[in-house]
Amino acid sequence: MPKGVFKVPAPYNEPVLSYAPGTSERAELQAAYSKNFNQVIDIPMFINGKEIFTDDKRNVTPPHDHQHVIGTYSYGTAEHVNLAIDTALEARKKWSQMSWEHRASIFMKAAELVATKYRAEINSATMLAQSKNAMQAEIDAACEFADFLRFNVQYMVDIYNQQPESDKGIWNRVEYRPLEGFVVAITPFNFTAISGNLPASAALMGNVVVWKPSDTQIYSAHTIMNIFREAGLPDGVINMVFADGPMAGDILFKHPDFSGLHFTGSTGVFKHLWKTIGNNIDNYKTYPRIVGETGGKDFIVMHPSADSKAVATGISRGAFEFQGQKCSAASRAYLPLSKANEVLNYVVEDVNSFKTGSPEDFSNFITAVIDEKAFDKIAGYLDYIKEQDDAEIIVGGGYDKSKGYFIEPTVVVTTNPKFRTMCEEIFGPVITIFKYEDAEWENVLKIVDETSEYALTGAIFSGDRYAAEYATRALENAAGNFYINDKPTGAVVGQQPFGGARGSGTNDKAGSAQNLLRWCSPRLIKETLVSPVDYRYPFLGE
Ligand code: NAD
Repeated sequence: MPKGVFKVPAPYNEPVLSYAPGTSERAELQAAYSKNFNQVIDIPMFINGKEIFTDDKRNVTPPHDHQHVIGTYSYGTAEHVNLAIDTALEARKKWSQMSWEHRASIFMKAAELVATKYRAEINSATMLAQSKNAMQAEIDAACEFADFLRFNVQYMVDIYNQQPESDKGIWNRVEYRPLEGFVVAITPFNFTAISGNLPASAALMGNVVVWKPSDTQIYSAHTIMNIFREAGLPDGVINMVFADGPMAGDILFKHPDFSGLHFTGSTGVFKHLWKTIGNNIDNYKTYPRIVGETGGKDFIVMHPSADSKAVATGISRGAFEFQGQKCSAASRAYLPLSKANEVLNYVVEDVNSFKTGSPEDFSNFITAVIDEKAFDKIAGYLDYIKEQDDAEIIVGGGYDKSKGYFIEPTVVVTTNPKFRTMCEEIFGPVITIFKYEDAEWENVLKIVDETSEYALTGAIFSGDRYAAEYATRALENAAGNFYINDKPTGAVVGQQPFGGARGSGTNDKAGSAQNLLRWCSPRLIKETLVSPVDYRYPFLGE
């Protein structure tokens, strides 16, 4: 136990490197990409700190070059999931008792490794296997991941510092125990940082974790695991298994020691997992924590007073960076008739200037979508739109999966504010625009609020302060992250804690103290310094 009230180093946001031509970071990243592209690695699961290989090998191929194999990973079975649970519970005996400054050191070291030795490696892995361009990889895999690791240490200490008052003669104190059991982390394909943070945040608070990454993010998950191990994370604290989701879920959520789910992914899967947990409630020793950040149908609303070029830039970046595969990506926009054409002309000009192709070529702004399933789903939406009378594609609409899963950035204009693509999450480079009469500003805000089941992010652009204030109030429940005069993407840890409500999740704000509070169970200890020795209170006197 610590013999001092330690102060942790102040967290800071990892500076985003430019990767401009001629910089050393660009040369290093290109070299790492090229090395990884030209080799085939064999990726194991990690259970109890051991590499586990199986005969069920599956290929890893870049989404932008799907016939080119860069690795294989070993798929696990029920036996591996069970082993991961047993191992975690065994590791809990020591890990849950380890004093906090040692846990903090491990994850702060992991942050330093991400930002230095492993920076090019984790960025190139994210470029290769998730098809992010260099900048999208940098802000995710290097910077956001390091930020999560550093800021969470500070938040942990902030939580530990929350202590009750004590009356004369007694000492009240609270200890923030890890959950009794194991935590399950189920992570999405689209952010390497989220993938690392979901198991790490629970482990930082003293929990043990079974982590199941998305099949399409395993390549960069492997780098994450290497970093955790090099940072000194003891064996068995985070166990990474590759397995069929429903099969793994069936085992994990039936187990009596299941104590929490840290999930990020689609709304449908999260609801399914919640139901499964509910159905198993009688099996558990403790009520499990359920934290899930899920889908979005994120909006941009322009007031007639806003600047057209700023709105167009918000759309071009907000809707199309990483091919719209961000939960926060703008996918519906509402433009006043007086300015809509001006904005759309700028957007079409931007879209026509985007270069598309492999992230290896740093001049490409757009790369491929994650896999064939996603490609077919998005292409299906584009085919649907082309058949409708109340919507028109004004730029894009094409797709081609001959070499990679490429979808053209697409702008749709509809006359129907409830058009299917104004409501449903597509998770691709498609934005749908509705033009409204300028005088209908207040009414359009009602439409924005009522159109989708989600409430993740949203942005309003306005040069008029009264309009901005009105919209902020009118859209109070329409987004967990609300932006004024900015795109609705790009939340930074420590500055814009992230999450949404309604169908978008439990809004526990990744990268915040609120989130870490879900991974501990406070125990109040009251100590009486001199215990009473007579049961009689004074009022009982004659
Ligand atoms: P997904 O729901 O398809 O998969 C997420 C994870 O769940 C994967 O690991 C997958 O294998 C697993 N899974 C699927 N079915 C399962 C089951 N029955 N039992 C157990 N595990 C199961 O999501 P995705 O395609 O990887 O990610 C995209 C989605 O994530 C989008 O909807 C996006 O909006 C959302 N997302 C949300 C946030 C946020 O912070 N709100 C951030 C990133 C992504």
